[in-house]
Parts: sequence; structure tokens; C-alpha cells
Amino acid sequence: MAAIPRSAIRLVKIAGIQIDIDYSWLIVFGLVLWSLAAGYFPQAYPGYAASQYWIIGLVAAVLFFSSVLFHELCHAMVGNRLGESIDRITLFIFGGMAHLKGEPRCAEDELKIAAAGPLSSIVLGVFFWLVANATAIAGQFSLWTAVFRYLAFINVALAIFNLLPGYPLDGGRLLRAALWKRWGSIERATARAADWGRTLAWGLMALGILEIFGGALVGGLWLIFIGLFLRGAAASGYQGTIVEQTLQRIRVGDIMTARPITLDAEIAIPDAVENYFLKLGHGGFPVTAEGRVVGILSLQLISRCPVEERPHKRARDLMRPLDASIEIGPSESGLAAMQQMNDVNSGRLIVIDNGQFVGLITLSGITRFVQMKTQLAAA
Ligand SMILES: [Zn+2]
Repeated sequence: MAAIPRSAIRLVKIAGIQIDIDYSWLIVFGLVLWSLAAGYFPQAYPGYAASQYWIIGLVAAVLFFSSVLFHELCHAMVGNRLGESIDRITLFIFGGMAHLKGEPRCAEDELKIAAAGPLSSIVLGVFFWLVANATAIAGQFSLWTAVFRYLAFINVALAIFNLLPGYPLDGGRLLRAALWKRWGSIERATARAADWGRTLAWGLMALGILEIFGGALVGGLWLIFIGLFLRGAAASGYQGTIVEQTLQRIRVGDIMTARPITLDAEIAIPDAVENYFLKLGHGGFPVTAEGRVVGILSLQLISRCPVEERPHKRARDLMRPLDASIEIGPSESGLAAMQQMNDVNSGRLIVIDNGQFVGLITLSGITRFVQMKTQLAAA
């Protein structure tokens, strides 16, 4: 399941894919720019003015981050072409993440989506290497040759790092796809790939500590940082898969509230609040008129109406009228219900079977069910 973005800036939309930037990315961009302009370029290619180093440092940093974006876009575009749904990319710390709405449908899809990123980075690396050689041949050596050499190197490094076999890195996803194919179980494959991810994370952190003792403080801290991040991502990726598999298996009909308490369309709002919402503690009720469901009334909808106007309103005035977007069938999966709730921004859906109103399914109900399932599995 895609994580909820914590602190992201919306940037642009490319080929229908929303590109977001996590705040952590701005810090990393600043660090990369500074280390290139004040460290790497002046040391490797001495004899130029400071302003020149900052100009090429900026160009190199922007192209570096564009390369990361290109890598993620390639994952997303291959995914979308295969019929998966990837509509968002978030760029953060040491790379990016293309958000799949759920897990890939089969091991082959996973394999193609995961391979697209490192392949694109290698292609970019070769491209920048050719450009570097072309600029070197065309004129005498200039700082621009240095920029393109750096970009060739960094893209190949990006491909190699991402190919490390720890989930959720691309290499870990390739490993998961292979195990998934062999074992036929995405849970088992994810558990193993996430194990490798954790091992890899500890390895990176240990390497970081060794580097610090060896005198490379910044490089060491960087490795520890990446290791910590990877460890968290491996754990939450695994949890996400388990929750998603649980949701995929349950049916709406099994976890809905059958024959829930309903509100009459003509009930006055203060009456509904007093005798239903506050008394029964539910966040929303189906609204009926002449025995048929006509909509949903939630606390959220009531709260949008100014307090002084509420005494003059009835349930039918403030409810969300029933339409296909808030209806769901009992044989749909819990996952489909959650995605629909998310898409239509409603915490509850009306369950309709053969044109008949049979129940209500709520986000809090699904969440409670998954919590109980996870608790039972852990015990
Ligand atoms: Zn990747």
C-alpha cells in the first residue's frame, strides 16, 4: 500500500504522473551542490575561479537530480504500460519512489518494473560518458567535460546501488519477483526479500562506522543514514504487503455492518446529532426515504454547515446523495473498498446487492478488522 506522504511539495505532472518532492530532498540537494562546488570539482580540476565551480556545480546537481527523476519515471511508465496504476512519484533522500496503487499483479510485472530503473540509469550513464568524450574531442578539456564525466559516473553508481538485493531497493524487488515466481507466494517472497533488505541495511551502517573510524566522517554518516532509512523501508514495505494481502482476501460482505441503523431523510439535524451521532457514537449513517437508501449523512458533512443554520436543515439537505461512487457490491474485496473510499473521499460506502441495500462498510471498520487480524497473526 502506498504510504501517505508526510511533507511533500507538489512539483509538476509528467505523462499523467504527479512528481512530489519530500522536504528532505531540498537539504540533500543543498549538500550535493555544496560538496560538488566547494569540494569535488575544485579538488579534481584545480585552477578555475570559484564562481565557475558554483555554476558547473549547480548544473551538475540539477542534472544529477533529473537523472534520479528519469530513473523513477522509467519505473512508472513501464508500470503504467503494463496496466498497473502509478500516478505519483516522490523524490527524497537518496532517490525516489514510484508509488504503485497496491502491489504488482504478478511476478513478471514486478520484474519488468524493477528492472526499468537501473537499466535507464545505465543508459543515461553511457549517454553522459559519450557526451563527455565528445566535448573533450571537440575542444580542449573544459569543466563541462568534468560535469559530464561526473554524471556518467553517478548514474552508473545509482544503477549499482539500486541493484543491491535488499527490498525495497530495485535489486530487492528483482529478488522478490524471482522468489514470488518460484514459491507462488508474494508474502513469503516479500518476507525473505525484506530480510535481505534489513541485512543490507545493517551492513551499510557497519560500513559507515568503519569509515568514520577510518577518518571519513561525512561518507560514514551518509552510509549510516542510508542504512537507517533502508531498514525502516524494508520493515514498512513488508507490513504494507501483509496488510494488503489481508485486505485483498476479505470480502465487503464479510466485514460490513449488515442492516445498519438508518436516518430518515426528514429528520431534523439537531435531532439526528442528539439521538443518533452522539448516542450511538457512529461517524455516519445511511439516509432512507420511503424504505429506500437515498444517501449518507456523516459528521463531516454536518460540520460543514454553519451551526446557526443547522436547526433549519434536515438530513436530506446535508447528506451526500446516493450514486454509483459511494455504492459497492458485497463480493468486492476490502482493498477495493478502501481504494474507492480514498478516490471518492468518503469514509463509508453503501453496500448494494442486486439493487437491494444490505449494509454499510466503513474505513474504521476495515482498519479495526486488519488490526485484529495482524494482532492474531503476531500472537
Ligand atoms: Zn529504482
